[in-house]
Amino acid sequence: MAFQKPPGTQDILPAAAGKWQYVEEKARDLCRRFNYRELRTPIFEATELFQRGVGETTDIVEKEMYTFTDRGNRSITLRPEGTAGTMRAYVENKLYGEPDIAKLYYIGPMFRYERQQAGRYRQFHQFGIEALGSDSPALDAEVIALAYTFYQEVGIKGVRVEINSVGTPAIRAAFRDELLGFLRPKRELLCKDCQSRMDRNPLRVLDCKVDQHHFEGAPSILDSLDDACREHFEQVQRSLEGMSIPFSINPRLVRGLDYYTHTAFEFKAEGIGAIDTIGGGGRYNGLVEDIGGPNQPGVGLAIGLERTVMLMQEQEEELAKRQRLDVYMVALGEQAEQHASGVLYALRQAGLSAERDYQSRKMKAQLKSADRLQASFTAILGEDELAKGEIVLKTMATGEQQTVPLTELAAVVQQLREQTLEGEV
Ligand code: ATP
Ligand code: MG
Repeated sequence: MAFQKPPGTQDILPAAAGKWQYVEEKARDLCRRFNYRELRTPIFEATELFQRGVGETTDIVEKEMYTFTDRGNRSITLRPEGTAGTMRAYVENKLYGEPDIAKLYYIGPMFRYERQQAGRYRQFHQFGIEALGSDSPALDAEVIALAYTFYQEVGIKGVRVEINSVGTPAIRAAFRDELLGFLRPKRELLCKDCQSRMDRNPLRVLDCKVDQHHFEGAPSILDSLDDACREHFEQVQRSLEGMSIPFSINPRLVRGLDYYTHTAFEFKAEGIGAIDTIGGGGRYNGLVEDIGGPNQPGVGLAIGLERTVMLMQEQEEELAKRQRLDVYMVALGEQAEQHASGVLYALRQAGLSAERDYQSRKMKAQLKSADRLQASFTAILGEDELAKGEIVLKTMATGEQQTVPLTELAAVVQQLREQTLEGEV
């Protein structure tokens, strides 16, 4: 029996990889513009890092981690998210000792043992940023702005930004009791998950995907905020307004992870079955200390790339253009075939994309390949031309043909290419 990929994983085939590359390039370029620098951490970490960094009562730690014992008897976990590893590296490498705050980003695979559905996988990819060392509300707004701009620039329409403040741990503790007072009479109406969340982590009940209709009239955490929290939240909103980023306040937004303080936010869009959240994050002022580092505040966000790619619709044309081949070389006859590799290699060294036939096919079949690859030019090398050190170059868009010296082929293609590119603008 042939092998199949494990459930919840995907092969990103060449036809789709262009979209992924485009998204990743956008992410990197945005980070350059916002001055975030890449941090690459291991795909696996000590299990305890996630227990402490993500939180014992979260769905992730309770039931979604890929955990195993390695041959040295250590408990290892494939990273389910990027923040804990980033914090670990920040502390271990003493990045907090630098004069400027640390503004970091990552792009890579994450692993969660979840039930597969559209937009939910066991191996998926996140683009995330973390800004550590400042509790300025302007930084919360910057993180939100980066994500908002990302969605705009990859061409996802109708993205909504929802923000909330979840206060401080002390405020949440008081709110927890108030919330439980509201939830207790409804306990039997709530789903099994919520009933157990009520015992372990009542705030998370508000995050439930099925029970929202029972929460009408629930107390709002915004009414529990103290002056400092309120002021922080106000300033985040003023900063967002200063950048003309539209947002709405959702007092029930609590996020699945335990470590958030002050600002929590999510990005939502329609179009992926039952799922509407495509990214989210918040401020986590206690987290660095929780994993054994100094008391440094932070704010961050993670964007799911599968969901991003699924919602991108308008880039097809631009992506097709980017995948186009510059030159397809057709070699006719034994002599020409022997020379083909050298001519092709010179084009590739000059920075052009170039391909040839490796199946000794007839001219007609080779020209069909050039078509399929959307080659901008075909270069036809016959025995006569070869004897004169020349090659026939055809511009596919116009059908124009010219004979050029072999030694000048790359330069001529480059020149023509620039002209047609200008023509397209
Ligand atoms: P959800 O509510 O959909 O389970 P989450 O709260 O677990 O999401 P986060 O941990 O905040 O998600 O991760 C941030 C983003 O990563 C999500 O908004 C989503 O785009 C993406 N993501 C999370 N889990 C998965 C998954 N299993 N498959 C694909 N993308 C995911
Ligand atoms: Mg989840």
